[in-house]
Amino acid sequence: MEAEHHDVVIVGAGFAGLGTTIALQKAGFDDVLVVDDASGPGGVWHWNTYPGVAVDIPSFSYQFSFDQRADWSRTYAPGSELKAYAEHCVAEYGLADHLRFDTRVTSATFDESADLWRISTSRGELTARWMIHAGGPLSQPKLPDIEGIDTFAGVSMHTSRWDHTVDLTGKRVGVIGTGATAVQVIPEVARVAQHLTVFQRTPIWCLPKADFPIPGLGRLGLHAIPGARSLSRLVSQAFVEFTFPVLAHFHGYVPGTALVEKAARTYLATQVKDPATRDALNPRYALGCKRPSFHNSYLKTFNRDDVTLETATIAAITPTGIRTVDGTEHPLDVLILATGFKVTDKDALPTYDLKGRDGVNLAELWDQTRLESYQGVSAAGFPNYFTVFGPYGFNGASYFTLIENSAAHIVRALREARRRNASRIEVKADAQDAYMTGMLRRRPNQVFSHPTCANSNSYYFAKNGDVPFRAATTIEVAWKSRRFPLDDYQYASVG
Ligand SMILES: Cc1cc2nc3c(=O)[nH]c(=O)nc-3n(C[C@H](O)[C@H](O)[C@H](O)COP(=O)(O)OP(=O)(O)OC[C@H]3O[C@@H](n4cnc5c(N)ncnc54)[C@H](O)[C@@H]3O)c2cc1C
Repeated sequence: MEAEHHDVVIVGAGFAGLGTTIALQKAGFDDVLVVDDASGPGGVWHWNTYPGVAVDIPSFSYQFSFDQRADWSRTYAPGSELKAYAEHCVAEYGLADHLRFDTRVTSATFDESADLWRISTSRGELTARWMIHAGGPLSQPKLPDIEGIDTFAGVSMHTSRWDHTVDLTGKRVGVIGTGATAVQVIPEVARVAQHLTVFQRTPIWCLPKADFPIPGLGRLGLHAIPGARSLSRLVSQAFVEFTFPVLAHFHGYVPGTALVEKAARTYLATQVKDPATRDALNPRYALGCKRPSFHNSYLKTFNRDDVTLETATIAAITPTGIRTVDGTEHPLDVLILATGFKVTDKDALPTYDLKGRDGVNLAELWDQTRLESYQGVSAAGFPNYFTVFGPYGFNGASYFTLIENSAAHIVRALREARRRNASRIEVKADAQDAYMTGMLRRRPNQVFSHPTCANSNSYYFAKNGDVPFRAATTIEVAWKSRRFPLDDYQYASVG
């Protein structure tokens, strides 16, 4: 049977897939198919419905610049509002006909004789001239590699696959992990569980969050006052820019990290009463080695009599609970795995087997050499293939700026291919090398080269120690995404 053909196939209907489709539509690329293994749009906001799920940067930044809402209920919107925002984007920009759900891409191979991607999915074969990966950095749940994980007789669930039929009221609950998701879910679980035990490997930096409801009058103002939404976005972007890209990538020049660490330690001291617990919650690595968190009740939760912080290493998961290396048995009814996602793992970037020119497998290439790309968007040897989130593409500011910048880069490259009537476009190896040299040259000034990062157990670090963030300000990223030399790509045509 002949494969179904589309001009563009996008993997992922999260905000990256939606935003890129909107950008392509505006540029006149109409034959776009977006496939996703979820049953609806929104990506992480479709999958993550655990109690307490919310954005951890202000909502004024976590939205498209061309569709700024005036009706966020809080300064940091809950996950359900982001899911609703995704559905709004589908309706507003007429995307429904482009979307195909419950469809997983399993492999893709570049056919050099036809300049086409041949794509296998769980629901049949596709071909595409251009393929765009928008499969997300945090979409593949990571389960802990702990002995006995399959033997637990109670209910166990990963936070990104929350089972709402499970009532935690009066149950003995264990949470493994203290990362960004755990920070949100732990206070909510503590409220209803009979007892909560939190298994911590590495404490997280936690700062207070300016999270408050936006009253009706405030929303009216955002709606009616000219420039109010743009101004709130500008202030919010400046805050986000300072709290991550500036502090992390320009750590060698901007001595802000120590000040923020001091503020975070003072905050910890005001929140946690017991000195031993406070000490256990005190990070021993520089702020920024690992994603810091903002939350107003996480630390306080450890003052509760019905919450235990366990720092002994887990020896095994047993049918009845968890045994730590000191021999203590922790009996549990429910086990919650707040263990995050596969980010730079071989089977997560991309999330399917991808073979480019000469049959080279992208994941294996990156695994054997190192993560590399051109502006996080393209890779030499992989023609007609683009990624919204690729190595050295994201600078850690709002993900929405990444989407808009990557989409601008992709659309610019595809427009040029269209202008030249080219059926193939591929980034030149020397352009990619020059980009990577520039990125690696900035590394010594990033916080990630701080020696204490070794204690952080951070998913930012690939297995060889590389941290594939884009060491740049958002302004630089925006400029370069729209002004890269078009000759950094080579163009060709079949027949
Ligand atoms: C709980 C949580 C909170 C977050 N909060 C923030 C925040 O406040 N600020 C911020 O900047 N970032 C935040 N993030 C990071 C988040 O990943 C990005 O902000 C953004 O939502 C990613 O969008 P995306 O479209 O690239 O990927 P996703 O939203 O992950 O969507 C990708 C989609 O592709 C699908 N997919 C992947 N592989 C395949 C395949 N092979 N076949 C078919 N479908 C596939 C996935 O199932 C998923 O539905 C958060 C992440 C999580 C998990």
